[in-house]
Amino acid sequence: MEATEEKLLELYEKLHAAYGPQGWWPAETPFEVMVGAVLTQATAWRNVERAIERLKAAGALSPEGMVRLSEEELEQLIRPAGFFRQKARRLRALLRLIERHGGVEGLLALSTERLRAELLSVPGIGPETADSILLYAAGRPVFVVDTYTRRILHRLGLLRDEKASYEEMQELFERALPRDPELFGEYHALLVRLAKEHCRAKPRCAGCPLAPPCARSTESA
Ligand code: SF4
Repeated sequence: MEATEEKLLELYEKLHAAYGPQGWWPAETPFEVMVGAVLTQATAWRNVERAIERLKAAGALSPEGMVRLSEEELEQLIRPAGFFRQKARRLRALLRLIERHGGVEGLLALSTERLRAELLSVPGIGPETADSILLYAAGRPVFVVDTYTRRILHRLGLLRDEKASYEEMQELFERALPRDPELFGEYHALLVRLAKEHCRAKPRCAGCPLAPPCARSTESA
């Protein structure tokens, strides 16, 4: 096994030992995961929770319930998640995709490759959102990477090129880890937690579960 692959496994073990299981994705149904994955774009999760609560209270947290809403009603319900007009358009496009496949179950029954391509064909759904749906709604072994992943990997010296593509970073994890959706889901959630609590834009290395021997923390000591 290559050094980077071993380090990625070690990193998971350290984070899991420090933080424990994260229990992602916090949702009752695959449709709720899909909606949350769109709503969480460019906003904090607490804002998504408020929007989800409003959809739930309006009986619109199912494809059948949401499709009955007018464009304006949907916009108003998801307003707390920000960019509400844009996100309402994305949700409506997602609903059309679901409808074309005879419902959420039909859509999520597609092969991983086909499902990813279908999700990416929805305007406003990029690799991170599509992969979140693949992993957390469809249970596929697809690793989700985001800006937090890039920052942490680079600081830990595991990403030679800070501008590596989404696919290159994803491949690093998928090569290093057993293809287990539960492990992938947990690992992504642990990286998000590390990025929020310690490895922020301006790192708070004191008390970080990786310090030492994180190369960055040694440099800045
Ligand atoms: S020690 Fe500092 S730079 Fe390294 S992972 Fe932790 S917070 Fe980030």
